[in-house]
Amino acid sequence: MPKSPEEAAHEPLVLIVEDELPMMRFLRTSLQSHGYRVGEARTGSEAIALAGTQIPDLIILDLGLPDMDGLAVTRRLREWSATPIIVVSARGQERDKIAALDAGADDYLTKPFSVPELLARLRVALRHRDKTGADKPEPVFESGRLRVDIAHRQVWVDGAEIRLTPIEYRLLLTLVHFAGRVLTHRQLLREGWGPAYEGQSQYLRIYMARLRHKIEADPSRPRLLLTEPGVGYRLRDS
Ligand code: CA
Repeated sequence: MPKSPEEAAHEPLVLIVEDELPMMRFLRTSLQSHGYRVGEARTGSEAIALAGTQIPDLIILDLGLPDMDGLAVTRRLREWSATPIIVVSARGQERDKIAALDAGADDYLTKPFSVPELLARLRVALRHRDKTGADKPEPVFESGRLRVDIAHRQVWVDGAEIRLTPIEYRLLLTLVHFAGRVLTHRQLLREGWGPAYEGQSQYLRIYMARLRHKIEADPSRPRLLLTEPGVGYRLRDS
């Protein structure tokens, strides 16, 4: 049955910023067939203009654009817009991905990616956007064997309470707050230790290993605290 105009207006609007036409077609078709409305921009300046006029719910941003790079687009957008941005990049652009995340992008996808992967990332970004406006954070976070009671600062693994050091707890809480999204090394170091420590990746490796030891069934095969190679970490969201 065709949707009424009211129903259609409630579908999330995704602005796709991509200069390669086959990729644009793939994204447009995938999103439209899963209930999203789609806006299209082929350059960075068009993206910035449309973000202001269409007010999309989410932006999918290719990093390699003809007029300006996606990193510059992210910075410009973040001056006035909190719309979630998912960066799309080719393999081997790790440095650009990290810079885009640090500039305020919410997540990234590496080409080639599958439709289910794309849709999962969209759902996480949109859910997070909806939560940001809420009065209170979720009081309890659960994912697999992990349960974090944020109000009472208690952490359980498989029903047994575990003890975390203040830094371990701060790192875990940051990951919980952004569950499902990737956090860069720099972002985690800033949250765990402060801005002066943004370059100390070895601290992070040590503490992530400790956290995994405490929350994973098999720390060498993590199911919860996932490594994003060359970029950072992601806590599995339920
Ligand atoms: Ca491109």
